Amino acid sequence: MNKEELLEKALCCNRCGTCRGVVQDEIPDVAFATQCPCGMTLFGAYEPSGLMYLARGIAQGDLKWNEDLANVLYACTLCGYCDDFCQRGYRHTPAVDILEDLRKRIPEKFKPAKIKKLAKSAVLPKNHKLSTLLNYGISDVTGNKKINTILFADNTILLNTSKLKEIGFILKKRDKKVGCFISDPLPPVSSDLINAGAQKELEKAMTVIDAKIAAHGIKNVIVYNPESLSVLKRFSKSGAEFVSITRICASLLKSKKAKKVKLPSVTYQDPCHLGRYAKEYAAPREVVKKLGLELKEMWRRGPDALCCGAGGGVLQNRPDLAKKFAANRWHEAKATGAKVLITACPFCSANLKQGKPKDIKIIDITTLVAQAYGYPGKEGR
Ligand code: SF4
Ligand code: SF4
Repeated sequence: MNKEELLEKALCCNRCGTCRGVVQDEIPDVAFATQCPCGMTLFGAYEPSGLMYLARGIAQGDLKWNEDLANVLYACTLCGYCDDFCQRGYRHTPAVDILEDLRKRIPEKFKPAKIKKLAKSAVLPKNHKLSTLLNYGISDVTGNKKINTILFADNTILLNTSKLKEIGFILKKRDKKVGCFISDPLPPVSSDLINAGAQKELEKAMTVIDAKIAAHGIKNVIVYNPESLSVLKRFSKSGAEFVSITRICASLLKSKKAKKVKLPSVTYQDPCHLGRYAKEYAAPREVVKKLGLELKEMWRRGPDALCCGAGGGVLQNRPDLAKKFAANRWHEAKATGAKVLITACPFCSANLKQGKPKDIKIIDITTLVAQAYGYPGKEGR
């Protein structure tokens, strides 16, 4: 967008500050009253209304980029709460569009090295482990036009044999043909490209993905990492349907009975990219119910869920901040009394391991489902 469009969007925000907190009549703990991870931890400039004001300053040319200004933006996890909340009827401020646009504008010289590195995240790693999937009946799509459903492989699984095995095991249980670009994988796009403001790299990768999807007649794409799912859903022009592995698990559990999982009560962390970005709130709860588990919901859940603190490149660039953000989520998870926290996002899992209370276990939802169907291998991480 150009500066005029940025200004027009930023002016939607009247800095009411409402999106900073949860609007509820009763709050069980004052610590659960705020919502923006960076705003609740730092100070005014880091809150959504501060960031929208900052956008106005950039659009009008009153503010000039410097390292400090860039670092204010890099503390935002792009959790999407301020956007989602404001769009529900306050001022309809497209906060995510604005925050993403600002990241594209940050001059390279003010980008920390760890943010610059994220711009290279769509480059395939050497020696990926996708051939593991062949052991589970998942065929190589390259040169095979009879498969219209594929698994999308992103950087959290390309080298992760134990997770690929779990996913392969689950997909085999569906008794439906699934393929994957194994010998010539798709560029592993994820929100890392957005976090880095890497517009060109994102467009280039999406062009390759869309062309390959079209050339092979792919209609459905199963995605493990919600941070890839949200990007594919937003930027692919292929017409294919992108479905979370969590939705696939929920459908599978409806059609094929699994054994009940023996666990103490559980709570569930709504990942921002699965929830607010992909609007997938029901499927993980259906999985928990089908597995016979007692779900103790956190106060902030569904569209109002609190970000774990990993997003926006904060985990990679500012692990100290990400840890502080995670502590806020743990405070609330502990208040439920649950002994297990289920996640459906590898980044939530990684960040929430920081400061994890000793008496609470974290389990990825695909691990739970694989175990319920009798998966014999070691837990995928
Ligand atoms: S983004 Fe919306 S809810 Fe948040 S401060 Fe601005 S106007 Fe208020
Ligand atoms: S996207 Fe999330 S972290 Fe960023 S300003 Fe909005 S509420 Fe805060």
